[in-house]
Amino acid sequence: MTRTELAAILARPELSDADIVALLGLTDPEDCRMLKEAAFNRTTELMGPYVYYRGLIELSNICTANCRYCGIRKANHAVERYTMTQEEIVEQAVWAARQGYGSVCLQAGERHDEKFIEFICACLREIHVKTKSPLLPNGVGVTLSLGDQPESVYRRWAEACGNPESLRYLARFETSNPELFQMLHSTPGRNEKNLEHRLECLRSLRRAGYQVGTGVMIGIPGQTLEDLCRDIRMFQEIDVDMIGMGPYLRSEGNDLEALGQMEPKALLQLALNMIAVTRLVLGPVNIAAATALQAIRDDGREMGIEYGCNVVMPNLSPQRFRKGYQLYDNKPCLDDEPTQCASCLEKRIQSRGREVGWNMSGSSRRYLRRIGRPNEVKPAKDYTPDGRRLIRLRAI
Ligand code: SF4
Repeated sequence: MTRTELAAILARPELSDADIVALLGLTDPEDCRMLKEAAFNRTTELMGPYVYYRGLIELSNICTANCRYCGIRKANHAVERYTMTQEEIVEQAVWAARQGYGSVCLQAGERHDEKFIEFICACLREIHVKTKSPLLPNGVGVTLSLGDQPESVYRRWAEACGNPESLRYLARFETSNPELFQMLHSTPGRNEKNLEHRLECLRSLRRAGYQVGTGVMIGIPGQTLEDLCRDIRMFQEIDVDMIGMGPYLRSEGNDLEALGQMEPKALLQLALNMIAVTRLVLGPVNIAAATALQAIRDDGREMGIEYGCNVVMPNLSPQRFRKGYQLYDNKPCLDDEPTQCASCLEKRIQSRGREVGWNMSGSSRRYLRRIGRPNEVKPAKDYTPDGRRLIRLRAI
């Protein structure tokens, strides 16, 4: 493809499948730069200059499932299992709110027992009450990432959250190719995964009132550019509000070791191309810069921002729990406390021409359009350019 042809594709209001595949396969540095610039500019135009924080709390690594790629799957007996207490979880969420994070993400392995379901309800209720403030009158926004659940459970958690306008759920379908999905998840047992069931979970999340987030893995052994193109079409079909995508990385204790992994530099570029093309096709959705990008290259997340991401998920989990939550190898910041993550991240974001959306819940414009309030992506009422500094002073 010549530069003129590439420029013509990037200028099109709608991309064909052939365009998408061509863009995903770019490797020449100047071609990739053109793609990056187009995606960054589209992000600015549609979403403004802000990158939103979702403070990530990895509250438990106990899981009843056995996804073959995952380092904390049930069959990996080498992992020491933990569950944070309600007090520890709430404390992290309150800390995040005081720092000016507009929302948090509660993530854990998948459990279906009543004790766990009610435990999450109790955490959500307390987080809602304890994070209300003049800057966050409805409390901190919440994203849940707790696996496949019945709609009745999604509804219970939605009710407990108490902040229906900033309620989100992330459930990646990982790949729209049924054979690849089967290969990633084919472990016979009581909690074997099924692509159609995952898609039904996403539909039930929408019915239960959540902003729906999903995503895929990029660079799965055997995956083609056409598969990734179909993944993007699937995002459109589901009409998602947010997307979290990351490179396929090996993990210690996974069950797919023999399949290997793409060469890191090529894998990173493919992941960045996927982010950029998703932005061009999907428009005003939230796209998270996965921490897994940083596992390949130190500034991988910042590169994600340059290619169209507008969400990052600083890890709030206390350092002593982090080594137990390794979904993949070389996970970054394992030795940092949350305060260190927060301070280094803002500088990294600013270095790429973006600002942190302090005290902003950060709903995607696609969602706000759906509920008839398209112009509400702006700072919280009392936010000023100095607001962040005020909050920092208060925290000290
Ligand atoms: S990917 Fe999620 S559901 Fe699957 S084994 Fe890992 S933690 Fe459990």
